[in-house]
Amino acid sequence: MTHISKPGLLTANDLSLPPLLHPLISSLLEYHQDRLFNWVACYGSPLNIVVPSILNDNLAKLVATIEQHSVPAKIFYAAKVNKSQSLVQAAVTAGLGVDVSSRYELRDALDAGCDGRQICASGPAKTPDFHKDLIAQQALISIDSREELEDLIALLAGLDQPQKARIILRYRPNSAIKSRFGITAQNMQQCLDRIARHPAHFVFEGFHFHLGGYAPETRIVAFWELSQWVDAARSLNLPVSMIDIGGGLPVRYVDAEIYDAFLTRQDAGHYRNAVLPGSFYPYGSKMDAAAWLETFLCAKGPENQTIAGYLRAQGITLGIEPGRSLADQSAISVFHISRVKALDDGSYVIFVEGSSFSACETWFASEFLIDPILVPSRQSGAHQRNHQAVQAYLAGHSCLEEDVVSNRLLSFASVPQRGDLLVYGNTAGYQMDLLENEFHRVPMPRRISLDADLTSVHADNASGA
Ligand SMILES: *Cc1c(COP(=O)(O)O)cnc(C)c1O
Repeated sequence: MTHISKPGLLTANDLSLPPLLHPLISSLLEYHQDRLFNWVACYGSPLNIVVPSILNDNLAKLVATIEQHSVPAKIFYAAKVNKSQSLVQAAVTAGLGVDVSSRYELRDALDAGCDGRQICASGPAKTPDFHKDLIAQQALISIDSREELEDLIALLAGLDQPQKARIILRYRPNSAIKSRFGITAQNMQQCLDRIARHPAHFVFEGFHFHLGGYAPETRIVAFWELSQWVDAARSLNLPVSMIDIGGGLPVRYVDAEIYDAFLTRQDAGHYRNAVLPGSFYPYGSKMDAAAWLETFLCAKGPENQTIAGYLRAQGITLGIEPGRSLADQSAISVFHISRVKALDDGSYVIFVEGSSFSACETWFASEFLIDPILVPSRQSGAHQRNHQAVQAYLAGHSCLEEDVVSNRLLSFASVPQRGDLLVYGNTAGYQMDLLENEFHRVPMPRRISLDADLTSVHADNASGA
């Protein structure tokens, strides 16, 4: 990872958050700026650029940790993190399974060549058609509720050709008792009993959970809670071969020290609306995904055994469903500046071609806390710019007052110009395409993928799109 430093930008009370960038992305931004302008001219703005090979670097670090502990593990790429088919393809080519939550994600995983048995389906409201597809593919179904289990029993009993469903039970950990996802400890025994009474319908494989937040501690506690259910299942002759701990492995977007200093120094005055958001993703996490996994595997339980030791001793495979952490660094979003307006207080508003729907944190009353990188257009005469540092916020093109890409005031070494590009690094994780739409009838933003040589360009739509 490297920083792109911008001499002249740093001031005494600097609150900049330079993004950490993968070397491939740094080299694209430093040495291939002409390509960026050409692609935006060709495909429009915002333009989401995916470099799917970067997923392999993220995977290698997780695999190294897993191998150090000799734990049997199965990684499912959580497809919902990004709509890019090239990322699904990279995951499948790397030998990963795919975690799907819709028939469309299932279709795309299969189109990428994923074996149905390597697919795991989560989600609280799977439809009968989705269930049928999953059974036909012999995919692993994570059962979210007693109700889903009963639906599945009825569905399997009604099939002309008897088939079995491979299932795991999603557990609702005590730390998430108010969540609507998963089966509470109270109902778990009943579900196990039902499954044990239907051996013709089910291949029971174990347990699952997925928690919000990013702390390894909540997963560690949930894991040890589940260990009693492993025993309960086995005493019903239900073999447990997997505990799937879901996703939520952290991603670091900016240097941890810079981020901490930023958090202590920022205040409402650094936002155009004078509102300091109440919460942020931990952009400057001290732990990366591999360190998180290491912490998890080394955590000791009631009998002083580590999680890794327990998994080995019990012959249980660790399931993980990373989304954000596998997609880390694998995409950037490029915005074309269409107008720059001076404001009465001396700051500026920069209008970009695109909207906050293509950079979604402001819609969650939060902010994407990394600085976009300004790539000046040759035409707008970089040499003529007066080098006076300015502050600006970023707005989308729409007529909504709330269509703001960055409420946070960003510092620039000189006034950005129409025709310049603003590039957000590391937008692959939910950032770039979660809320995109055709507001104002503007076509959907385009997505292209680049080979590691940074020259071969492919359209990157889901197969059905
Ligand atoms: C969203 C989700 C994931 C992926 O979470 P990340 O934070 O992107 O790693 C994994 N499993 C389930 C069940 C999910 O809902």
